[in-house]
Amino acid sequence: MNFKILTSVLAAALSCCGAAELPAVKIIATGGTIAGEAATSAQSGYTSGQVGVDTLIKAVPTLNKIARVSGEQISNVGSQDMSDAIWLKLAKRINELAAQPDVDGIAITHGTDTMEETAYFLHLTVKSRKPVVLTGSMRPSTALSADGPLNIYNAVAVAADPLAAGRGVLVSINDQIHSAHDITKTHTTATDTFMSPYRGVIGATAYGVSQYYRTPFRKHTVDTPFNVDNATSLPRVDILYVYEDMPGDLVDAAVKAGAKGIVAAGVGNGNMPKAVMDALSRATQQGVVVVRASRVTLGFVGRNVEVDDDKLNFVAAEELNPPKARVLLRLALMQTSDPKAIQAMFNTY
Ligand code: ASP
Repeated sequence: MNFKILTSVLAAALSCCGAAELPAVKIIATGGTIAGEAATSAQSGYTSGQVGVDTLIKAVPTLNKIARVSGEQISNVGSQDMSDAIWLKLAKRINELAAQPDVDGIAITHGTDTMEETAYFLHLTVKSRKPVVLTGSMRPSTALSADGPLNIYNAVAVAADPLAAGRGVLVSINDQIHSAHDITKTHTTATDTFMSPYRGVIGATAYGVSQYYRTPFRKHTVDTPFNVDNATSLPRVDILYVYEDMPGDLVDAAVKAGAKGIVAAGVGNGNMPKAVMDALSRATQQGVVVVRASRVTLGFVGRNVEVDDDKLNFVAAEELNPPKARVLLRLALMQTSDPKAIQAMFNTY
């Protein structure tokens, strides 16, 4: 058999057995505990963002059975240090990769602390229906029963799965698949920290095999007007946590520091003491957009319940928690500072 015939027989054999057909998944690493290291395998102290993407991939030797994976390192930080610069780099790179016909899906490793914010930012700014899936871990890579390798395996499986396409940006973690819109971190250390408490999960994954229960209710990705491909910065928006007898001068300080928007993490249904309400009202008169969210885990902050949003020109956060309301407000402020137009966005995304 000459060489040409041999290679075509080999190619036919590979395609018959599926090896040549495996989906191509790009793994983008940003850091986090999943890339963290500790001095021993049984201690709580560790440092996030120490291990590179190739080491993360090598820790999951079976990955090459479910996808053709290749890695890319965008940053290596604990996600407490996630930044606008990394967000913009990440969104632009995902949009470039997703536009390539030889990329079927993208998996992103990320710290868990701010994963919900990054996921929602990408949910609004990625312009593709291909699966984009974040994952992380609660235990560092060196720990006993590290949760990272199986989380990476499942995230790659979801990123490779055509059934995950069109569901917006997803988070695959602890055998569950969440929508970026709904997920929130609920426990400081437990491996089952992530929940979508208001609307529930999108699906579940067991060793790479996924079930999907629903699609996200709100618009996302290709159905939003938000595009950061040419952006070099994002408007400043501060979150102010509301509490008993809170003074209004914190609002004045945020405005003085240059905030273009303020999210009040209000008590109950987005309420706040009168001094804070008066200060926020003054802020709106200076062109700052005020969004009322809630420090409560569950529920919906609706317009004009105990606060007269129509009179005060405030925006109600609807289902978004304070950090996600901040993400949407920043993107909205790149287009308009009209509170009514921004309220319409909060009703839609
Ligand atoms: N502080 C870590 C981070 O967000 C926590 C984690 O990844 O679980 O990077």
